[in-house]
Amino acid sequence: MSPTPDPSPQVGREPFPRLSDDDLATCVHCGLCLDACPTFRQTGLETESPRGRIYLMTQWKRGQLEFKEEQVRHIDLCLGCRTCEAVCPSGVPYGRIIEAGRAEVEARRRPDPKRGIAKTALRQLVGHPQRLRAFGSMTRVAQYVGITNVVRSGRQLPRLRPAFKPPASGGAPAIGARKHRVAFLVGCVMPILYPQSHDAAVKLLQLAGCEVWFPKEERCCGALHAHNGDLEAAEKLREHNSRVYATGEFDALIVDSAGCGSHLKDFYPDLKGRVKDLSEWLVEIGLPEPRRDVKMKVTYQDACHLAHAQRIKKQPRELIRAIPGVELVEMRHPDICCGAAGLYSTLEPQMSQRILDEKLADLTATKAEIVVTANPGCQMQLESGLRARRSHIRVEHVSELLVRAFL
Ligand code: SF4
Ligand code: SF4
Repeated sequence: MSPTPDPSPQVGREPFPRLSDDDLATCVHCGLCLDACPTFRQTGLETESPRGRIYLMTQWKRGQLEFKEEQVRHIDLCLGCRTCEAVCPSGVPYGRIIEAGRAEVEARRRPDPKRGIAKTALRQLVGHPQRLRAFGSMTRVAQYVGITNVVRSGRQLPRLRPAFKPPASGGAPAIGARKHRVAFLVGCVMPILYPQSHDAAVKLLQLAGCEVWFPKEERCCGALHAHNGDLEAAEKLREHNSRVYATGEFDALIVDSAGCGSHLKDFYPDLKGRVKDLSEWLVEIGLPEPRRDVKMKVTYQDACHLAHAQRIKKQPRELIRAIPGVELVEMRHPDICCGAAGLYSTLEPQMSQRILDEKLADLTATKAEIVVTANPGCQMQLESGLRARRSHIRVEHVSELLVRAFL
């Protein structure tokens, strides 16, 4: 008798990595990462550097250092931006180390109301698309009637537009000949905060000959949960989404949020090689000739999880430079974090603000009219900082800039 097929395929089952001696031992303490680390640049303290944090976690792991709350601060202050990983000559997997380290910290620290609320919000709100949409609708109404501080956070929410809605059919056709079939990550907060970025991204994909599939039951990818040390919730979301993706056929899963793309590439083994950042994919398959000039002076802020975690720096710049009329001016240190880092600006507002202030000084020095980036957290952080300075510089997702050339 043949075995009964398993109704739920065993997808996405590899456990999230826990803090490992092998990973920690890859650090040779050379210090070449120090000047690239935003928190070391601000404080000059070894304990706020990648090397110092790795040393701390190694000592805990070996039982050579007692776990103390004041040392936890050094882990909390890490942005998880992975700049250190990108410059490390020894191949230290810092992103994996810090996410595993955070999970250990969360399991052992004294209850912290602020972090407790963040964890509950991530589990009960961000992980549930319908609840999040309802929250978005209520916030839109509150903004409309003038109650703008509904959510007290390190940064203000942008003025919300109607949320991004995939077509009822679950798909959007290619414009012209169909060359590819792609899935599109709608995600959790992005369709609510920046629906226009998704609209532009989908339009670009269609123009490039892609039929776009929006997996209906898809939920948050779990990046924010993993980033905050809640690997259990991240694992559950991955298992759910992996089952959803297994129901469709597609050449690539397109992601226009750098943090999500990095998480999917690292922690969704079933999707290996098929997760593509929007700019990475568009450079790979090519866009049609632009229809019009876009006369603008533009600067580009690298999102950390695109530049450092996915090592994608050239592609967005290549696409921007290909738009006739655009003048791309580089700011000083475009690949240093803006201080957004998921919930960091809410949980660590002082350090986030110090990092943002330096970023805004570099950004405004370019005299650009518009700053483009590729992650909703960076968009919100930069918008909030520029608004506070009463600056006229606009912030857009790279997709919004590109699509102007095709309207
Ligand atoms: S993380 Fe890499 S660059 Fe930094 S001290 Fe360790 S080995 Fe050197
Ligand atoms: S992830 Fe970013 S903030 Fe954390 S140690 Fe590395 S460079 Fe510094």
